[in-house]
Amino acid sequence: MAINTVTGPIETAKLGKTLMHEHLLIAFPGWESDTGFENMNHRDMVKVCVDKVEELKSAGFTSLLDPCPNDLGRSVDLMGEVAARTGFNIICATGLYHHHLGGMPYWSMKLAYDPDGEKILTDLFIKEITEGVQGTGVKAGVIKLATAAPPFTDYEKTIFRAGAKAALATNTPITTHTDAILGDEQLDYLKSLGVPAHRIVIGHCCGSPDHDYHMRIVNGGSYIGFDRFGLELVRPDEGRVESLLKLLGKGATNQVIISHDSVWCWKGRMLPQSAIEQMDAGGMSMRFTRVIAPMLKKAGISEAQIETMLTENPRRYFANETIPHAA
Ligand SMILES: [Zn+2]
Repeated sequence: MAINTVTGPIETAKLGKTLMHEHLLIAFPGWESDTGFENMNHRDMVKVCVDKVEELKSAGFTSLLDPCPNDLGRSVDLMGEVAARTGFNIICATGLYHHHLGGMPYWSMKLAYDPDGEKILTDLFIKEITEGVQGTGVKAGVIKLATAAPPFTDYEKTIFRAGAKAALATNTPITTHTDAILGDEQLDYLKSLGVPAHRIVIGHCCGSPDHDYHMRIVNGGSYIGFDRFGLELVRPDEGRVESLLKLLGKGATNQVIISHDSVWCWKGRMLPQSAIEQMDAGGMSMRFTRVIAPMLKKAGISEAQIETMLTENPRRYFANETIPHAA
């Protein structure tokens, strides 16, 4: 089966070792209003991203998913240029971020005043998957949906409904952002809208120490994102690894997705330089290779299990195959 990457379709069998949640560029809405400093220019951003990709290639990676939604500064031009220069597979997303930090002012007005608002949103997602993003011809390969702290707001539910409809209309999988809470509710809601669980990644679950929460998601039949390794500002890796080992002990290997949620370039200066330097020092998108995989192996996890999480699970998710239960 072929899926969309930013440089064209690719057979899922060719994805290879894949990081499922990394960002070339993030720009939170409002960044344009911070005129107090100079942003990195496009050429410098390309260079930073090419260097990061070359590093990943040296560690055997061949693909990544950048699930930046439409309202967080997504640049398909940047992704396309970096993919073309490196020969790396980059998959981009269509979708919207959560109520609190995304493009809510614009879309909530649209949804409030336009009786066709939800359909317009659905059609937008479909168009970005089937025709491409704004005349670039770059087609999205995944739908990004998000919630933050409870409650799961009406605004977010509207976006989830549009996303579910677009997923079903185009046979495209869904990946989510959570604040390490509400993932089980996201999964229940998407399933109630008809999206098969094996087409869903519930993101950022490794931020929660709650094993029962993890098991509700695993038992719900979706993929579970351990996709923030190295984000020690939110939860130290020691805890993420401990939670992962518990899940692997329960036979969940075939459902775990690995990544870092690293951000290679920013627009604006939302985070202080010290936080960015701390994340850099952790290795960013190389963290799993350098630090986490050795920790897992030391704890008895096999090379084959790691390979399953990095290669087979992403392939199977994109190929729309059901998840085999581990023995
Ligand atoms: Zn992210």
